[in-house]
Amino acid sequence: MQLVEEPDAFSRALDRARDAGASIGLVPTMGALHAGHRSLIERAVAARDHVAVSIFVNPLQFDRREDLDRYPRTLDADVSLCADAGVSTVFAPRAAAMFPADSATSVSVAGISARWEGASRPGHFDGVTTVVAKLFALAGPCAAYFGEKDFQQLAVVRRMATDLFLPVTIIGCPTVREPDGLALSSRNAHLSADERLAARVLWRALVAGRDAVASKEDRPGAVADTMAAVIGTEPLARLDYAAAVDAEDFTVPRSLDAARELRLLVAAVVGAVRLIDNCDARVPSVAAPRRAGRGDRSRSARAALRRDAEGSGD
Ligand code: AMP
Repeated sequence: MQLVEEPDAFSRALDRARDAGASIGLVPTMGALHAGHRSLIERAVAARDHVAVSIFVNPLQFDRREDLDRYPRTLDADVSLCADAGVSTVFAPRAAAMFPADSATSVSVAGISARWEGASRPGHFDGVTTVVAKLFALAGPCAAYFGEKDFQQLAVVRRMATDLFLPVTIIGCPTVREPDGLALSSRNAHLSADERLAARVLWRALVAGRDAVASKEDRPGAVADTMAAVIGTEPLARLDYAAAVDAEDFTVPRSLDAARELRLLVAAVVGAVRLIDNCDARVPSVAAPRRAGRGDRSRSARAALRRDAEGSGD
């Protein structure tokens, strides 16, 4: 495995691998790697000949300087994990190499970037899309692996790759959780013991939202209220947002029957740590038509059932 710091060297390394016939996988990260990142890396290593992991704490995507300064940095351990997982190239650039003083270009995805995480953290997604566009430009044609843990980020990056005709296939990977449901996150390292217990409330809220949808609640606002009420039961947690949204454009559908695919979102601050999580939810009218018996299912309902059975979910 090679560790490269310079953007040029990274680009050349992947060009050489491609010239030798290798397919390329790219896993962009901010380091402090954990089992969630590892699952993306393993998925890439299983499918691609040459896997590159980028480790870059991107200053552009932090809205608060303090959050950037205290973001965990564990480069040596990250490099060992990558070597162990079969990575071929680790790209760990300095901030000045990715954003030279005279750089003047940013990439912005309208609409979807303004909602939820984008509304709570102004400029966040522009920071993400700008750095990911640079990584894609350096990497060249490849498959890039992103976690469903950051489901809105995944949707924003997909939109960018489609809109800019980038030669990159975006692959979404399921969220890796602790046994009690808490999604793994580099930020969990900042939770005290009490806060760590309190942080379970995010997953509890999502499960309650999912149950509400399964029991035929079809008003997105009522599902959001159910999730918010669960967060409200935890004294150490402060709700940022809870929502039931269309999984593609992140708008709130008029009713849940109308959603193409539904995603439940929560964001809350536990102690001083801001956490986000999400899950899918099956709208019963699609998964099990209310008025039709099994033999009566339409072709589209049967196709939806097949998609559900094949989907990764959480
Ligand atoms: P980050 O280092 O937080 O920027 O994350 C790098 C990539 O790992 C992103 O695509 C995340 O969505 C993904 N990721 C982070 N946590 C998890 C998790 N618990 N399960 C799966 N993927 C994750």
